[in-house]
Amino acid sequence: MKQNIQPILDKALDGERLSSEDCTALLESNDFVRIGLAAHEMRMRKNPADVVTYIIDRNINYTNVCNVVCTFCAFYRRPGKPDTYVHSIDEICKRIDETIALGGTGVLMQGGLHPDFNIEWYEDLLSTLHAKYPKFQLHCFSPPEIHNISLISGLDYETIMRRLKAAGIYSMPGGGGEILDDEVRKRVSTKCNTQEWLDVMRAVHKVGLRSTATMMFGIGDKIEHRVRHLQRVRDVQDETGGFTAFIPWTFQRENTALGRKITEEPTGIDYLKMLAVSRLFLDNIQHIQSSWLTQGLKLGQAALRFGADDMGSIMIEENVVSAAGAHNFANEKELRYQMREAGFTPQQRDILYEYVNRDDIDELDKKDSMSLRQLSVAFAD
Ligand code: SF4
Repeated sequence: MKQNIQPILDKALDGERLSSEDCTALLESNDFVRIGLAAHEMRMRKNPADVVTYIIDRNINYTNVCNVVCTFCAFYRRPGKPDTYVHSIDEICKRIDETIALGGTGVLMQGGLHPDFNIEWYEDLLSTLHAKYPKFQLHCFSPPEIHNISLISGLDYETIMRRLKAAGIYSMPGGGGEILDDEVRKRVSTKCNTQEWLDVMRAVHKVGLRSTATMMFGIGDKIEHRVRHLQRVRDVQDETGGFTAFIPWTFQRENTALGRKITEEPTGIDYLKMLAVSRLFLDNIQHIQSSWLTQGLKLGQAALRFGADDMGSIMIEENVVSAAGAHNFANEKELRYQMREAGFTPQQRDILYEYVNRDDIDELDKKDSMSLRQLSVAFAD
């Protein structure tokens, strides 16, 4: 018989920290609406009640060459294969110029683990971009890339992060977290292990940079692994306070080796419950992000009542999860409409959650409804 979860929710609402046993009981419960209500209450206390934030940025994947194998990835190409690429600085600048023209404040730049790129390659890239766009926020790389630099250049994580900070990195995305438990990780990936991922994040925060933390579940993990993941993220946050946000999403299966093997995938309810439990368990992380890009606009919107206070990015360009089957798209007008219809005021932000105010926003919101999608079928005569 499932445990009565109300005492656990009351505990969270009274400001008491949840244990990993509490977290397990919540994730095992089917009472997801009650969990969502408690998570929403916590979100309203932690962040301005009537506002949902979003960012305009772009993913630039500077290379698809990758030296390791993750069976959940549809993006990487092995070194030497014909369809590999490395973007030139000019190509990256062109993409940044387009992002700025659309009101964007930063770029999320990540790539595969290239076997030849040492610390100097990354320093050159950052310093060139930072010199050209001094105010543009370079939200770059991930723990697996930093671990790869460490293997190639023989430097410790903290030295690498100090050098990248001096070269112009602004903050770091929490990519490559997947499930932070080696029982799961070692089955699906040969990149950095749990301890290495967490240690990179400690180094990022130690040098004074902020980062996000992520979770991708549905890769053969069980509830116990998800609980350990949340516990590890909360522990690092207790030590450093450097995570700005937590972003859970579900594995996208298309075109992946793992996708052919997986027999169960998380449902919409699993996603909403994971999001809500994250809000309740991660009492030391301010922002919880809805992942409309992977879950679709409608579930992404519903997430705003399950603990999320942010709808992530407009994402002018994205290559990694779209390669694995996430083909959701929204422009700024559409995303703002979803937020308003959920009962909130949309607010653009930058990567550190500072509000960004533009003169053209009122014009954008003028027509109150979102344009309807083009129908792809014709009426029969
Ligand atoms: S997820 Fe990243 S590290 Fe893993 S194969 Fe894909 S590009 Fe490489």
